Amino acid sequence: MPHDGIIYLDHAATSWPKPPEVLEAIAYALGPAGGNPNRSAHRLALAAARLMLESRSTVASFFGVPDARDLLFVPGCTFGLNMALKGLLEPGDRAVVSSVEHNAVVRPLAVLEKAGVEVVRIPTDRSGRIDLDAAEALVAARPTKAVVCQHASNVTGAIQPIGDLADIAHDHGAILVVDGAQAAGHLKVDVTALGADVYVASGHKGLLGPQGIGVVYLAPVIEVRELVQGGSGGDSGSLTMPAARPDRYEAGTPPVPAIAGLGAAVEVLSREIDALVVQEQRLVQRLVAGLAAIDGVRVLGPAPGEERAPVASIVHASVEPDRLAYELDSRYGIAVRAGLHCAPAAHAAAGTLETGAVRFSIGRGVTEADVDLALEAVREVCSK
Ligand code: PLP
Repeated sequence: MPHDGIIYLDHAATSWPKPPEVLEAIAYALGPAGGNPNRSAHRLALAAARLMLESRSTVASFFGVPDARDLLFVPGCTFGLNMALKGLLEPGDRAVVSSVEHNAVVRPLAVLEKAGVEVVRIPTDRSGRIDLDAAEALVAARPTKAVVCQHASNVTGAIQPIGDLADIAHDHGAILVVDGAQAAGHLKVDVTALGADVYVASGHKGLLGPQGIGVVYLAPVIEVRELVQGGSGGDSGSLTMPAARPDRYEAGTPPVPAIAGLGAAVEVLSREIDALVVQEQRLVQRLVAGLAAIDGVRVLGPAPGEERAPVASIVHASVEPDRLAYELDSRYGIAVRAGLHCAPAAHAAAGTLETGAVRFSIGRGVTEADVDLALEAVREVCSK
């Protein structure tokens, strides 16, 4: 049902509203647990350190990470992907990457490419799924350091065959780096079962936490250079970061309020995830079927009925995306996102690089009534 008069269908940008537990945890982290963790030894600092430990262990078990020290807190998914790619790849290395990545992968790889990393791209079909045979041929062709792929697309909702890609990468001695921004919290993700060596996620999207926090899972055997050096609260006499995880990768005062908020959010999610996945899948299929039935509308990505993340982007034969999004917001209070969604590569593959698209994205709190109201609104705007 609408919250504050808003039907919020922009969960792929950021989830909203956050569970009340998140707000409470943030207030607690700023109040009774407001010290600097792992620095001072007074009660406020100890409470902050405890909050961090609890959040890390909650998030680690949510992702099936056996040792919570392999679950790193970073400022966001973009930061985590930069850290993984720049910390793994050196001039002369080769990376095989999907051709539908978000700019959080495309842009750091462009910098690395300029510096002498070879980057080759895996083609996708029109629904946005990678071609596994092509992926295997590319990885087998020359020694490859990393295979990089998103788990789910923020444009088409296409879900990539990460388990198969992990097998391909590992058969050829490569490391699999996964951008889980649009999968975490919307699909059940067990990083160990998936075979991901590095799995990066945003805290504020499907994980329901606040902005300013992301997570990186680093498999125990994977060596990544840290991107940032600074204080770690211990071993202060050394010029180098401590070797132990997570300290090596978490220089500087951590964002405890965001970490506490994320921990509280993931506690809620851990209880709800099974039901939530079923509900979101039901709603997105209802949305896609309804959108596809509207005259002049093309739904990007997987066909109605096919598996997808809870995202649906459309173009209309005559109504421009910006206008449709504006009308939905101003006349109906429906929040969606128009444009290229920071993912021109995905739009190029879908044939919408010139126009962009309007994206509807579903998350916790969205109801069938919301979906039906959105469909009715799109019908009205597009019939004028
Ligand atoms: N990867 C994908 C597929 C995304 O959709 C996004 C954000 O929209 C990101 C990475 C970057 O996430 P953040 O902006 O939270 O750093």
